[in-house]
Amino acid sequence: MKTRVGIGYDSHRFAAGDGLVLGGVHIPAAVTLVGHSDGDAVAHALTDAILGGAGVGDIGELFPDTDAVNRNRDSIEMLQLAVELVRTAGWRCVQADVTVICELPKIGPHRAAMRERLARAIGIAPSDIMVKGKTNEKLGWIGNVEGLAVIAVATLEAI
Ligand code: MG
Repeated sequence: MKTRVGIGYDSHRFAAGDGLVLGGVHIPAAVTLVGHSDGDAVAHALTDAILGGAGVGDIGELFPDTDAVNRNRDSIEMLQLAVELVRTAGWRCVQADVTVICELPKIGPHRAAMRERLARAIGIAPSDIMVKGKTNEKLGWIGNVEGLAVIAVATLEAI
């Protein structure tokens, strides 16, 4: 069985707001994520990991922020489109692991919902995708609660 691994990274800045979307799940908070789309850094990092593993480009190439269609776009929809593209290239994502680095919000209470949502978008079982939260120990821009960062890894198998 031919397998590949892809890695994805994303970061978004916080602004005052009424909550944010991570992994397709709305999380109540005193901040929101600034972005051309819905700012869902979890979906973006995961999309890049899957595209990277298949070697078919990256999220910026596929969904350029210069295209009005991508404005406030649902990032789960972008993830699904990337999964389809990867499938036509002969690959399917079989497993993924995601780490969200942030001082807030707390990820744990929303983990199950995120795993459910992301797994459905990719076409795997929730048990095949993990989402973890990690603080930055109050260091740097993440520690100063200026925004958050996400790292994702995806395993792909040849179809
Ligand atoms: Mg992004």
